[in-house]
Amino acid sequence: MTFEQLGLIEPILKALKTEGYTSPTPIQQQAIPVALQGKDILGCAQTGTGKTAAFAIPMLQTLSKEKITKGYRYTRGLILTPTRELAVQIDESFTAYGRHTGLQHEVIFGGVPQTQQVLSIRNGVDILIATPGRLLDLIDQGHVHLDYLEMFVLDEADRMLDMGFINDVKKVIRLLPKQKQTLFFSATMPPQIQNLANALLQQPEQIEV
Ligand code: AMP
Repeated sequence: MTFEQLGLIEPILKALKTEGYTSPTPIQQQAIPVALQGKDILGCAQTGTGKTAAFAIPMLQTLSKEKITKGYRYTRGLILTPTRELAVQIDESFTAYGRHTGLQHEVIFGGVPQTQQVLSIRNGVDILIATPGRLLDLIDQGHVHLDYLEMFVLDEADRMLDMGFINDVKKVIRLLPKQKQTLFFSATMPPQIQNLANALLQQPEQIEV
């Protein structure tokens, strides 16, 4: 199986070549075609499986379809992840895979002053990678608007629960448009996470690796 066979656009294929990726991992083989069809996904996968590319590549390709105009960019893609380290890694992946797409992305996380983050998103970004608490702060202050969101990724949902972020996650979810595509990833599926997935996802395709 090749990335070409997954129907990826040239700007992304080129970036993957630069990364030295020759073939998609099992989760990428399963998730990318489903996500490109616009379907919701409930994915059971650990870090290290190539999960980041499994959601980043379809998000970049889907959001590339619309012509990007000059001026303010609405946040059309959101990735929520529990830790600063994961957020930074995901941001680096978007830089790598999205370098030829013309899409803009930024990362925001707590534990550091917010000034620089606010500046970096002041003209809007297509894709925002965030930890839940800082995202809520920036929404409350009017620096982030999610009214035009098209794609939502919830990464490491079970760790959100373990780390006590689940109520913040639910608050963010309540602020998102009802009509959107959601990709939901969790290494384990405890009842609270299964309930959240049931409430959030619409006829999801289940993927397990
Ligand atoms: P992740 O599970 O997303 O944290 O990815 C784990 C590691 O695998 C990262 O270092 C990626 O750069 C790498 N990786 C992801 N997909 C591929 C692929 N298709 N071929 C080679 N390496 C990959």
